[in-house]
Amino acid sequence: MMFRRNFPKVLCIGLILAIAINLLVFYSRGTSQISLLGHKELQLPLSEREGEVVKRLSHLEADLQHLKESMKLALKQQESMNSTLTRVKVEVRSVQNAVKSTESEAQKRKPQKKLFPHSQLFKQWGDDLSEAEQQKAQDLFEKFGYNVYLSDRLPLNRTIPDTRDSRCLRKTYSSQLPSLSVVLIFMNEALSIIERAVTSVINRTPSRLLKEIILVDDFSTNEELKTYLDEKITLYNHQYPGLLKIIRHAERKGLAQARNTGWEAATADVVAILDAHIEVNIGWAEPILARIQEDRTVVVSPVFDNIRFDTFILSKYELAVDGFNWELWCRYDALPQAWIDLQDVTAPVKSPSIMGILAANRLFLGEIGSLDGGMLVYGGENVELSLRVWQCGGKIEVLPCSRIAHLERSHKPYALDLSPALKRNALRVAEIWMGEHKHMVYLAWNIPLQNSGIDYGDISSRVALREKLKCKSFDWYLKNVYPLLKPIHSIVAYGRMKNTLDRTICVDRGPVPGNIPIMYPCHEFSPQNVYYHLTGEFYVGPLVAEATAADHCLTDPGSGEKPTLEPCSEAARKGLHIHWDFKQEGAAVNRDTKRCLEIEKDASSAYVLVLQTCTSQVWELQHTVGSWGHAHAP
Ligand code: UDP
Ligand code: MN
Repeated sequence: MMFRRNFPKVLCIGLILAIAINLLVFYSRGTSQISLLGHKELQLPLSEREGEVVKRLSHLEADLQHLKESMKLALKQQESMNSTLTRVKVEVRSVQNAVKSTESEAQKRKPQKKLFPHSQLFKQWGDDLSEAEQQKAQDLFEKFGYNVYLSDRLPLNRTIPDTRDSRCLRKTYSSQLPSLSVVLIFMNEALSIIERAVTSVINRTPSRLLKEIILVDDFSTNEELKTYLDEKITLYNHQYPGLLKIIRHAERKGLAQARNTGWEAATADVVAILDAHIEVNIGWAEPILARIQEDRTVVVSPVFDNIRFDTFILSKYELAVDGFNWELWCRYDALPQAWIDLQDVTAPVKSPSIMGILAANRLFLGEIGSLDGGMLVYGGENVELSLRVWQCGGKIEVLPCSRIAHLERSHKPYALDLSPALKRNALRVAEIWMGEHKHMVYLAWNIPLQNSGIDYGDISSRVALREKLKCKSFDWYLKNVYPLLKPIHSIVAYGRMKNTLDRTICVDRGPVPGNIPIMYPCHEFSPQNVYYHLTGEFYVGPLVAEATAADHCLTDPGSGEKPTLEPCSEAARKGLHIHWDFKQEGAAVNRDTKRCLEIEKDASSAYVLVLQTCTSQVWELQHTVGSWGHAHAP
């Protein structure tokens, strides 16, 4: 780092030394030749001696010319540095002035009329912006999903709080760590955001370890990311020769392939593949490099903090492991007891999965098949990699002393609804890696097990990879790596639950917080998922299927006419009435109370759920598993 920052100064000192040494060598060579070859020298004819002197002089002239050119180059670089510095200073000054004038204007200004009172952007920010400024900020926010107006006004090298545990600061690392390529992928990201990410990587990674920063543009349509970004890269490379590279996709390939493109271009020992809306924190790289040096089969996740999309203030996240649910959405899980027992907050934490951002030994990542290029747009690729790494002989760890601040956007610029991509990619993971447990993904997404109608692409090469690497089963993974994720084998019907009296409304989890299920116009989302078990429970709402958190069971409280939802394991322990007899197109009868789940019209003529003496109303549950029977089936 020091060398890079002081590059022109070092070059100047080097040149002066070089001139001095050159002259010294010339004279000492001359004199030593005279003294050693004294008599011989005298035997040389004058013309030859003259010729020798002329030759040496012309060498010296050439040397001097060369040095002069080097000096010129150094001066030019110094100038460009200076101009960059001046520009930065000017920018800083103008930001300071802008802040000052905003402050003084804010004092002068009356509270502004809020043009966008419902915008997420202005909930905690922007009170004293003029109407024109609000409009500008809101436009940028809608385009990017975060506060670009503010980002453009914050210093690129801003300080962020060091969120590491103080014990991380006492750690020391070998002076012989592996080299690092940092990959930053992006699609329609704001220029200042990318620059801030690059700046943080340059400033917070020891320069002797940082071999290159590779930017991968997944076919952005945003104009400022074309010429302006190229110009910025040229400027960076003036200052840090050869450090930055950019690769641009000629069509949108999605994040998995963008990460692969970065990995393919990388040349260092270790590759860290990050989003472009991050700021790495101090000391982020050393723990990663040291751990991967120790064990090349470890794929590493740093710990994330959140950069708020509106204020850009950092909120610290507590250490957790990276997990996922049966939709394969990522989630944070509790720290494993074995790690807690170690009583070392700096120790790597074994983790079932990664969130997306990762670091790995470059060659090892290739050996196990980098990322699944068949993943489209977004999602699934992190779980696919995680299952593959664990099942095929690697490990995943979260490193508590390596922290990266990541901006969680309010919305994505590349898709309004991520579900179609998530769903499709999740099926890909299920079909390649989950064996007999793959049905859990179908159930969680409410997809029929047969003829799903979803094209998850060609998986043959990934299946071949699984065979080639002789990978263990998903069952092994569940038992040994992720016991918290609980497969369920007793579900026999699932999906939307409709009463034949009105098929436009569905059983729904009801308002949260709260535990009263309702009838509600049918929609696609998980609050209307219902799962019926062979053992008689109805789960209502998203499939949790986690060992410690309970799914919600439809319950007859025994009195009153409203059913409730109770955490299943607790309800079973307390002996609540959670078991129902049900067949497709049949009644739903509580096994204990013999009351039926039915619907009736309330005062406003809307259907509501009631528990009452059965009146032969019938229910349909959208999908049936295997050969589970229909009431009227022969
Ligand atoms: N991305 C991409 N191509 C896409 C979608 C996303 O290159 O088609 C990039 C995106 O710019 C970001 C990274 O993938 O750098 C991860 O996406 P995002 O940050 O939206 O996901 P999150 O971090 O919120 O899970
Ligand atoms: Mn991101």
